[in-house]
Amino acid sequence: MYPYCTAIIMAGGKGSRMGSEISKQFLSIDEKEILAYTIDVFEQCEKIQEIIMVSGQGDMQKTKALVQKYGFQKISQFVVGGKERQDSVRNGLSKVSHQTEIVLVQDGVRPFVTEDMIERSIQGAMEYGSCIMGMPVKDTIKVCSPNGMAVETPDRCSLWQIQTPQTFQRDLLVQAYEKANAAGFLGTDDASVVEFAGCKVKVVEGSYRNIKITTAEDLLIAEAFKKEGNM
Ligand code: C5P
Repeated sequence: MYPYCTAIIMAGGKGSRMGSEISKQFLSIDEKEILAYTIDVFEQCEKIQEIIMVSGQGDMQKTKALVQKYGFQKISQFVVGGKERQDSVRNGLSKVSHQTEIVLVQDGVRPFVTEDMIERSIQGAMEYGSCIMGMPVKDTIKVCSPNGMAVETPDRCSLWQIQTPQTFQRDLLVQAYEKANAAGFLGTDDASVVEFAGCKVKVVEGSYRNIKITTAEDLLIAEAFKKEGNM
């Protein structure tokens, strides 16, 4: 039997890097909000039974209005985010249904996620416990000192840029978050929390189009993808 899958869609950040007045998830591409594109993919995917929507306190009314505007049906809970992304995920995780077996964590500002990625990440999590999307980096990456000097150049062949969805067996993720919380560990993604807890994480290919809209340049790229008919 296929597992009960819950998606936690993260939109609790402030988005200060965009430099816009409104939070980036509410910016529009072709008159539809970035967050609406993201939710839509999970809403349409028949493998997803439930969506937990995480939003900042100040944006909660707007988030609820957006869900109403598009008539999304799968959202079971609206949850207020925390100071760090990890706090926001933990708040969302505490609200998943008792029957949830697989949890997918998705950045609300990654509107080019596809049903195929969702399904492959669920398959990976069923097989390996944890499965995340990523792509090999194209640029050379350097570790730099605070004063801007190159310190180290890791071998590019082993470097991947990591995306969402990040998908996990529920108990594994809950236990990893408890362990990280108790130890005061703070990661920038969910997989790093799971790795900290000593579990293995499978990385599968996402897409170079599965971008996170963070800065004004990303919005221009997203508009180009949209024009090309990829949403
Ligand atoms: O900050 P970052 O770019 O990693 O954010 C990725 C996603 O996590 C965004 O969709 C953002 O809204 C969300 N986030 C959150 N709570 C935070 C920080 C970020 O839900 N405290």
